[in-house]
Amino acid sequence: MGVLKSLITNQDDIGAALNAGLATAVGAEIIEGLKYVGGEDPYAGDSGIGFVPDPIIRSLGVPLVTGDIPGVAVVLGKADSAADVAKVVKDYQSKGIMTFMIGGCIEQALEAGVKMGLELRVVPLGHDVTSVIHVVTVAIRAALIFGNIQAGDLAGLLKYTKERVPAFVNTFGALDPVVVSAGAGAIALGFPVIVDQDIGDLQVPGALEAVTNHDETAKHSLALRNIKIKVKELPIPVAFAAAFEGEIIRKADMKVEFWSSKNTTCELVTMRDAAQVEDHRIVVDGPDIDSGDTEYALATYIEVYGAKMQKDFESVIERKIHAWFNYMEGVMHTGQRNQFRIRVSNDAYDKGLRMKHFGEVLYSMIMDEFDAVVDKCQITLVTDPEKAKKVLDEEAMPAYSARDDRLNSMTDESVDRFYTCILCQSFAPSHCCVVTPERLGLCGAVSWLDAKATKELNDAGPCQPISKEGCTDEVKGYYPDVDRMVHAATQGAVEHVSLYSIMEDPMTSCGCFECICGIEPFSNGLVVVNREYKGMTPTGMTFGELASMTGGGVQTPGFMGHGRHFIASKKFASAEGGIARIVWMPKELKDDVSARLNATAKELLGIDNFCDMIGDETIAEDAESLLSFLTEKGHPVLGLEPLM
Ligand code: SF4
Ligand code: ZN
Repeated sequence: MGVLKSLITNQDDIGAALNAGLATAVGAEIIEGLKYVGGEDPYAGDSGIGFVPDPIIRSLGVPLVTGDIPGVAVVLGKADSAADVAKVVKDYQSKGIMTFMIGGCIEQALEAGVKMGLELRVVPLGHDVTSVIHVVTVAIRAALIFGNIQAGDLAGLLKYTKERVPAFVNTFGALDPVVVSAGAGAIALGFPVIVDQDIGDLQVPGALEAVTNHDETAKHSLALRNIKIKVKELPIPVAFAAAFEGEIIRKADMKVEFWSSKNTTCELVTMRDAAQVEDHRIVVDGPDIDSGDTEYALATYIEVYGAKMQKDFESVIERKIHAWFNYMEGVMHTGQRNQFRIRVSNDAYDKGLRMKHFGEVLYSMIMDEFDAVVDKCQITLVTDPEKAKKVLDEEAMPAYSARDDRLNSMTDESVDRFYTCILCQSFAPSHCCVVTPERLGLCGAVSWLDAKATKELNDAGPCQPISKEGCTDEVKGYYPDVDRMVHAATQGAVEHVSLYSIMEDPMTSCGCFECICGIEPFSNGLVVVNREYKGMTPTGMTFGELASMTGGGVQTPGFMGHGRHFIASKKFASAEGGIARIVWMPKELKDDVSARLNATAKELLGIDNFCDMIGDETIAEDAESLLSFLTEKGHPVLGLEPLM
């Protein structure tokens, strides 16, 4: 408190005002922190959520860097009219902006029909002004997690939030002294504040501005932070935005459904010759959703032609169907290939949404995102059950199995290049992923095929080829060009990277990894933890504590971030004995990867049902009981050399 008081000097000086603002922020942090003393959730029963845990911040990494979430809005106060708040928040939502709300504006927005939730990108924090700190700490922890900023480095921190966190603040209603000083804190962090009151000559251009016309609030706020939104005007009767990706449509709200368990379904993208594709041809073959039924078959059959199109890109495009359909307000899509479920809400139906609009969405998005490889595209939506079955049997199934064969045969040895991915550098400036066929990017979202397609779509983009020439150590996976490319991509921050060792020059981590593995010295094994797991691990550390060992482009021998899919890879820590090192995983993760991991173990170690030998939280949460479990099961790690 002494430090805080010393920062509040009441001098008529902008620097002093900003310091007072930072003091207010720390004061808010103390007040909010105290609410948690005692262990109970002070926000239980409140419409706000309060503290935002680290795993959520990590999960925001990729959508922020890809521009899926183009910015972060902090909306605070209580407006003179609820409609004003709703208008602004809905505008942000339609643009994919992540909005955090504080104060009476939450109820005002709810009243006016704004749908809220993390998945919907509108997050109510709390009603006291001090709860604004829960979004401020998101920015601060982003700097610690992704930016490798050290605690205590105030200058580094302020530089990071100003340059790399695209946030801004909108206040509604009358300003009181606490709101004003919290606003000064925001400005100190580099976040401009836009108030809806006339404040005359108190405005500071670029930092504190008044916009009294709410029609202009969003536009002006985005401009201040230089956030550019690619507006997609699609010829469909419902909204289309990434913010609707997480929307859930319950049975009671559902008009029609396409579901594999009930009817034939499949999705297929296939490449054709120029003459076989008529550009922008959209055909609905069978009944439309207004024919009276509630359940339909659906074969989504997309044919593309492009001079630079490759067979390998079919699945890359196809996998995007899931997101694009979800972006339609009132449409929910889960699954892929021949196993999916699509629901259309009553509301979307009443607005006029029909099958041809699904076709328009696919056409527009393919031509927008894949224009570098697709010159022409035609779409057939087959709802006739017999014809859909024909597409499934004669086109889709053979294509899926050919693709699976290709994927299975694709190993690090069978290709002539790997790829870098530096997408996360906007947050983690000294991080670079090396993506290989057997190891996808640590976010889980970038496979080798994705990286290859990214290079084709954007020649100077985030994924660049790495030559495999001149390998100097096949076991640990040292390649001169890996070192050269990573060194260059990280502006010299990283000298050497091994592809297959976690003890020697392991790959760097940005922070958005799906899982982290770390050594468990007692058994000489590795525990693997996914970011959703909240409990303790036998290392004596939680996911968050393990995760803080690495990140921000740092290499920490013994700890490494990676994707879920990598766990069953033959290349997982292969220099140290591979999957035979895995001794513990949270149960949910183990169940998720067990089919593939068991298959790999059978092939590499000759062990059946390997996952039965791996501990989880229902078996052991401490190192000693884990070791006795491993001993009882005869886990192969016990025969390996010590890790250290
Ligand atoms: Fe970020 Fe790596 Fe994923 Fe690329 S592959 S988006 S750098 S985590
Ligand atoms: Zn990342």
